[in-house]
Amino acid sequence: MVSSHFKNLLLELGISRERIEILESKGGIVEDEFEGIRYLRFKDSAGSLRRGTVVFDSHNIILGFPHIKRVVHLENGIKRVFKRKPFYVEEKVDGYNVRVAQINGRVFAFTRGGFVCPFTTERIEDFVNMEFFKDYPNLVLCGEMAGPESPYLVEGPPYVKEDIEFFLFDIQEKKTGQSLPVEERLKIAEEYGIPSVEVFGLYDISKINDLRELIERLSKEKREGIVMKSPDMKKIVKYVTPYANINDIKIGSKIFFDLPHGYFMQRIKRLAFYLAEKRIRDEEFEKYASALGRALLQPFVESIWDVVAGEEIAEVFTVRVKHVETAYKMVSHFERLGLKIHIEDIEETPQGYWRITFKRVYPDATREIKELWNGHPF
Ligand code: ATP
Repeated sequence: MVSSHFKNLLLELGISRERIEILESKGGIVEDEFEGIRYLRFKDSAGSLRRGTVVFDSHNIILGFPHIKRVVHLENGIKRVFKRKPFYVEEKVDGYNVRVAQINGRVFAFTRGGFVCPFTTERIEDFVNMEFFKDYPNLVLCGEMAGPESPYLVEGPPYVKEDIEFFLFDIQEKKTGQSLPVEERLKIAEEYGIPSVEVFGLYDISKINDLRELIERLSKEKREGIVMKSPDMKKIVKYVTPYANINDIKIGSKIFFDLPHGYFMQRIKRLAFYLAEKRIRDEEFEKYASALGRALLQPFVESIWDVVAGEEIAEVFTVRVKHVETAYKMVSHFERLGLKIHIEDIEETPQGYWRITFKRVYPDATREIKELWNGHPF
């Protein structure tokens, strides 16, 4: 149930009583609580309040992070979106999206879905200079948390060797969700020493060959891709490397039955457009074809063998926290996300952190494989 306090607030924001009731009954808005602080989370969008919006009070409204469109034909995508105008090219860092904001003196980190993430909220001060929020309480830092010790992803970018790091890619205003222009964001990041995604510079369509070379380099370095942004942040598109497409398939095929078929189809599509745009043939084509086949099949077949050997399909991951309670809060958080994750191990580090090992099990995928192996017709 959404309390009358939040309903009145939504009315003040111009959402009609009827719309509020529909949203509530469909579960499109949910009232949540984090350490005694109540907030409203938007699972659906409503007017200008995007999906993932978080509302505390009439000043503290953090809009959902917007969807970024993708191009699969690099040259034609750039021509269509940016015409002949310049755009910034940044690294697309492979991690999880967080919005960081100060609410009544406390800094919180929100997930894409609008939950307060207990882990990121606890760790964010390790990465971001909190002075920023003293000077700009009305701004929201949007960035990617990435590294090998992530609570949401099995892999991080190759250059984050341990733990996890924050990479800023956007600064937005509370309430409007408007982004600062790229140059302003970069200036603030430098001034406060906030770590950012790598910015490769300003490009335009005349530099398409340099951009192709950049994609080749990123792919070789096992990096995810690029995000292209007009300096005023009004036009934004992403493009991912062939490496990332194949690697995502490899990661996904281990848990084949837990992912929608579209997960695989989308990535095969992107790879096909890359091969066609670059007119890749012969030996190089064979290389991609065999890498794709292997990525799709090998982890899948190995998962079948694991289940046949009596194991459960599972992923194990480790994170570092300052307080053990944060680990337990993460378990409740995972439960609310509908994930089956439990703590396997807790160990104190010499640096005063706690290393928590979690295990995520995939009971549906395990059961499905078991049934198919045992000959159940379907
Ligand atoms: P959507 O399609 O709605 O954007 P998604 O989960 O499919 O969401 P991705 O395909 O991974 O997202 O790409 C968008 C995400 O990339 C952003 O939400 C952000 O978290 C991440 N990202 C990493 N680096 C950047 C960057 N430099 N600029 C913008 N976003 C970035």
